[in-house]
Amino acid sequence: MNKDYDYIIAGAGCAGMSLLMRMASDSFFSSKKILVVDADDKSLNDRTWCFWEKESDIFEPIVHHVWEELDFFSTHFSTVLDIAPYQYKMIRGIDFYAYVKNTIASLPNIEWKKASVKRLLGATELLATQTTSTHQITAGIELNDGTTVFASYVFSSILLEPIQKSPKDFHFLQHFTGWEIEAAIPCFNPGRAVFMDFRVSQEHGTTFMYVLPTSATTALVEYTLFTENLLPDEAYEKAIREYIRSELKIQDYTIVHREKGVIPMTTHNFPRYQDNHIYIGIAGGEAKASSGYAFKSIQKRTAVIVKALKQGKSLASNKSFTEKKGHLYDAVLLHVLHFQKMPGDQVFADIFKGNKSADVLSFLDNESSLFTDLKIMSSVPTRIFLPAALQEMITHVKR
Ligand SMILES: Cc1cc2nc3c(=O)[nH]c(=O)nc-3n(C[C@H](O)[C@H](O)[C@H](O)COP(=O)(O)OP(=O)(O)OC[C@H]3O[C@@H](n4cnc5c(N)ncnc54)[C@H](O)[C@@H]3O)c2cc1C
Repeated sequence: MNKDYDYIIAGAGCAGMSLLMRMASDSFFSSKKILVVDADDKSLNDRTWCFWEKESDIFEPIVHHVWEELDFFSTHFSTVLDIAPYQYKMIRGIDFYAYVKNTIASLPNIEWKKASVKRLLGATELLATQTTSTHQITAGIELNDGTTVFASYVFSSILLEPIQKSPKDFHFLQHFTGWEIEAAIPCFNPGRAVFMDFRVSQEHGTTFMYVLPTSATTALVEYTLFTENLLPDEAYEKAIREYIRSELKIQDYTIVHREKGVIPMTTHNFPRYQDNHIYIGIAGGEAKASSGYAFKSIQKRTAVIVKALKQGKSLASNKSFTEKKGHLYDAVLLHVLHFQKMPGDQVFADIFKGNKSADVLSFLDNESSLFTDLKIMSSVPTRIFLPAALQEMITHVKR
């Protein structure tokens, strides 16, 4: 191929398509040549994103459902979370992919290539490359068929190598299986979702259910764990089936859709860039290590990238104070869970019991003030969290 572009988006999942959508919606990018490469054609409903936000963003037109209230259940404390001014929103993968693909279909400056990316090209290879291009060539990729493509920037959301596990880091996984079920008779309140239901066995570690009703008869029910190891496939299915029977008390239903996933929840220090190769999405460390949520942080980061490109600013930015603060808090929680100093269900119960729900949501999104952070931290036992925080601060300062 040996062509060159202004930007290559390597991996067109949540992060790649979010960046693409922001570029496609801004006239600044209409003169830029953009190549999108993904091994998949993104035509399956392979995931459902939920997230909370105060104001709507670019994907508002495809929001599938919105909840104003959330239930929190545990054996220690249960409540209805009044999340205002936030709303909890759901976007289906299939709608997201179709929306972005439809938006770019008529844009001549954007090219989509279905191909597998083998590697990002190194600086010396790029220097050695002679092209007749008018573009500044500072980044590039090699595809599995051996062809190379060059650009000024490559934005990659592809984890080309497995995460190198350092013993200094915590390596939890958020793993889950979800069933979208259709009940024979109305049994859900589509105005309220179950954010976390910890009233399930905690034998494997932090474990809870989500129930996301989209009508009186349909809901996505997800069995979710924050642990260091996966379970056998049948364990997830068994847990959902049992929860639907004993907690939701639904006997007659059909499973209309299934999804499963594994998201890293780790203190691993993901590189954000190498020269003009910019890592985004999970590959750029955008999954929150204490919750596995990534959709909102991906939106924030892709908006920052677009702004920087328009202003001609360097993308080689390091983490902000707020991000570093968030990483430290995440590390403290993972420390407490890893060393089994306090069970996760009790940590979340204490936090939700002692604080306004909106403050907790802003804390989980790294958007809270230091004052709110301190208030939230004072709602969990100091004798457990303070030593963990001191230890993690030392580890973080050394980085
Ligand atoms: C089932 C599921 C549900 C989730 N639900 C939520 C949620 O509710 N809320 C939330 O905040 N987060 C959620 N997440 C976490 C996170 O938001 C998603 O994982 C999100 O898709 C991450 O975006 P990404 O762009 O980093 O990765 P992906 O969306 O996985 O995109 C990576 C892309 O790279 C492509 N690719 C991979 N390797 C290659 C290669 N070698 N060559 C070419 N292309 C390649 C893939 O086909 C894919 O399109 C969920 C994750 C999963 C798996």
